Amino acid sequence: MDFSVSKEQAMLLQSLQDMGKREKFKELAADIDRTGEFPHFLINKYADMGLLGMSLSPEYGGMGESSLTAVLAIEALAGYSPMIAAPVFESNVGPVRVIDMFGTGEQKQRIIPGVCKGEYSVSVCMTEPEAGSDLTSLSTTLTEKNGRYVLNGQKAFITGGGIASHYLVYTRFGEQKGYKGIGAVIVEKGAPGFRFGKQEEFMGLRGMPSCDLFFDDVVVPEENIVIRKGDFGNLMLTFDIERCGNAAMCLGIASGAFETAKAYAAERKAFDRPICEFQDVQFKIADMAMKIDAARLLVYRAANGAGKGLPSIYEASMGKCFANEMVKEVTDMAMQILGGYGYSKEFPVERMLRDSRAWGVAGGTLQMLRITMAGMVFGRRFDQRK
Ligand SMILES: Cc1cc2nc3c(=O)[nH]c(=O)nc-3n(C[C@H](O)[C@H](O)[C@H](O)COP(=O)(O)OP(=O)(O)OC[C@H]3O[C@@H](n4cnc5c(N)ncnc54)[C@H](O)[C@@H]3O)c2cc1C
Repeated sequence: MDFSVSKEQAMLLQSLQDMGKREKFKELAADIDRTGEFPHFLINKYADMGLLGMSLSPEYGGMGESSLTAVLAIEALAGYSPMIAAPVFESNVGPVRVIDMFGTGEQKQRIIPGVCKGEYSVSVCMTEPEAGSDLTSLSTTLTEKNGRYVLNGQKAFITGGGIASHYLVYTRFGEQKGYKGIGAVIVEKGAPGFRFGKQEEFMGLRGMPSCDLFFDDVVVPEENIVIRKGDFGNLMLTFDIERCGNAAMCLGIASGAFETAKAYAAERKAFDRPICEFQDVQFKIADMAMKIDAARLLVYRAANGAGKGLPSIYEASMGKCFANEMVKEVTDMAMQILGGYGYSKEFPVERMLRDSRAWGVAGGTLQMLRITMAGMVFGRRFDQRK
C-alpha cells in the first residue's frame, strides 16, 4: 500500500494553494456566504488551469486523470468553501461522468468539450417531491408517441438548477414499474416545456443554485437518451464516483475548520496561557486530526480503487457515510474551541458548520448508505418494501 501522492498530484495541490492565496479565497468564501452569489468568474480560471473535466476522456477535451486526483483537488478547494470547489466537483465527479462512460460518441462530442472549457455544466436530476431515498418509485415519465419521445414530471432540490446548461434526468420509460423501467435522458436548458421553480434557501451552502424542475410535454430527441431502461445499474454505479466527490467536500470543509481551530488555539489566551495548553483543547484538536485522517483513508481508498473507472459501491458508501458524519463532528468541535467567536460571523467556523450539514442528505442519506453497506456485509439485498 502506498499512501503518498504522486509528484504530479503534489504539484497540482501546490498550484491550488498558490491560487488560493493569490485570489484571496478565504475572503471570497466569506463574500459568497454573505451575498449568496455563485462565483461564476472562477469557471474561466479553472478552465485555463485544466481543472474542469480533468478526469474526462482526453479525446473529448479531458485529461484522463484518475478520480483520486479529482478528489484531491476538490478537497483542497473545499477547504475554503464548497462553492469554490463546485465547478471542479461538477465537471469531474458529476453526471457528466455518466455521459463520458455510457453516452454515445455524438453525445460526448456535443457536451464534454464544452464542460472542459467551462461553457457547459451538467446537473443530475434524480430526486422528486415524492421520491428521494425511494428513488425507484420516481414518476417522471418518458413516453413514445408516433416516434417522438415526450417527458413529463417534476424534480426537486436540483443542484445547478437554473444555471446548468444540461440536465441528466432520471426517468421512467413508459409504464414499467421499479428500477427496470428507469433510464436517463439529457434535457437542454431552454427546451420548450422545461421550466425552473424558485431558488431554494438552504441553511448553508449559500450561493449554490438549487431548484425544482418542471417538464411539461418536453420533446426529447432520441439522440438525447443516455441510459435506456434496463441499465439503471450503470446510472447508480457512476453515481458512486459523485459520492467520492461529496466525501471530498467533507474532507475539505473539516480541514478548513481544523486549521482555523488550531491557529486560534495557539493564539487565544485564557488564564494567562494559550488555550492549546489546556488538555481538553489538545484532546479536541487530536480527535479532529484523527477523524479527518480516518475519513481521508476511507475516501482515498474508494477513489484510488476507482482508478479511471468506477469505485466499489461498498468503499464509496463507507467513505461517504464516515466523512459525512466526521465533518459535522469536526466543525462542531472547532466551534467550541473558538468559544463565542466560533458562533460569530467574524470567523469562518459557523459557516463551515452550516455547510457541513448537507452532505449526509445530498447524494444518498446516511441511512441509505448504511442499508447498502449492510446488504454487502450480509451478501443479500434488504428490500425496504418487504
Ligand atoms: C444540498 C442538497 C443538494 C442536493 N442536490 C441534488 C441534486 O443535484 N440532484 C438530485 O437529484 N437530488 C439532490 N438532492 C436531494 C437528495 O438527494 C435527497 O434529499 C435525498 O436523497 C433524500 O431524499 P428526501 O429528501 O426525499 O428524503 P426522504 O427519502 O423522504 O427521507 C427522509 C428521511 O427518512 C429516512 N429514510 C427513508 N427511507 C428509509 C429507510 N428505508 N430506512 C431508514 N431511513 C429511511 C432518510 O434517510 C431521511 O432521513 C440534494 C439535497 C440537498 C440537501
